[in-house]
Amino acid sequence: MNLHLPGKLNRALTALLCALLLTGCSRTDSAAQPDLSTTTQTDSSLQIVATIFPPYDMARSISGGRAQVRMLLKPGEETHSYEPTPQDILAIQHADLFLCVGGENDVWLDNILKSMGEDAPPVMRLVDLVDLVAEEEKEGMTSRGYHEEAHAEHDHEDHGNEEAQEEHDHEAEIDEHVWTSPSNAIAITEAIAEKMAELDPAGAALYRSNAAAYVEEISGLRDDFARLIENAPRKTLVFGDRFPIRYFVEEFGLDYYAAFPGCAEDTEPSAATMIYLIETVKREKIPVVFSIEFSNGAIADAIAEASGAGRMTWQTCHNVTRAQFEAGETYITLMRSNLDALKAALYGEE
Ligand SMILES: [Zn+2]
Repeated sequence: MNLHLPGKLNRALTALLCALLLTGCSRTDSAAQPDLSTTTQTDSSLQIVATIFPPYDMARSISGGRAQVRMLLKPGEETHSYEPTPQDILAIQHADLFLCVGGENDVWLDNILKSMGEDAPPVMRLVDLVDLVAEEEKEGMTSRGYHEEAHAEHDHEDHGNEEAQEEHDHEAEIDEHVWTSPSNAIAITEAIAEKMAELDPAGAALYRSNAAAYVEEISGLRDDFARLIENAPRKTLVFGDRFPIRYFVEEFGLDYYAAFPGCAEDTEPSAATMIYLIETVKREKIPVVFSIEFSNGAIADAIAEASGAGRMTWQTCHNVTRAQFEAGETYITLMRSNLDALKAALYGEE
């Protein structure tokens, strides 16, 4: 479970209340945040608000400058500790289209949208656009709730049923990182483009043609991944970190080991997890241990050091840094950088 949820929700609702008290129901420009908008057009253009980087990047690419596209998360901000400001909530309310991920990490949004009543914008949730898989607890992982349950470990057997139920709940959690698979990214881009075309028919031809170009790039990247993986001597990835790329490995038939499932809140792996990952890396002569962006990489570093493997970063694309944002990085350039990392991980030095 997301342990930060109640606090996040309370703060969000308080922020909403403050925002409404301060501004009444009038449209104000306080929702504008020029540094993250792709245009400086007037309010008459289609206004799209996205929570995180992938749908933001897709919408701005489809828009080609015609729509005003804004990301709530600031570059460099960690997705899972994001908290909405009053301006963010106003931006959602004033949007013509609101793009969010859905799933566990977006539960707080449902209440905000509900509280907006008829003023709530049309919402697209990425998890509604593709086939979903549940988060998976693989052998060796530190499972969700490990630290809470650890103190009761000695009477584990007395609570067999409860524990089993708990375990079941954990396993049943939907993995919301749908954008990490290129095929999903294509489906999501096409769906966003169709929605934008419906909301702004005069821009439909432009949106569809921009979407087609973006999809073609992702499709080329997908082919490159497939070719690389098909000929690889290894098919296993090791993440000394959380594991938000289940959709990616599912798409290409890769196996994996990781410290935690999904984007678990845990940051301390169990000793058993560390031993398991180090021994797996040694036994299978895995050349690279991954960490993910916006992680301190400490677990991956420790595994790499103990096993003699290298360490690299996998771009899960939750967000970009300020420098990457200013350098014009896109979902596609980030995913393409994973191609080099994947080559090192599957082929090694030889
Ligand atoms: Zn995540």
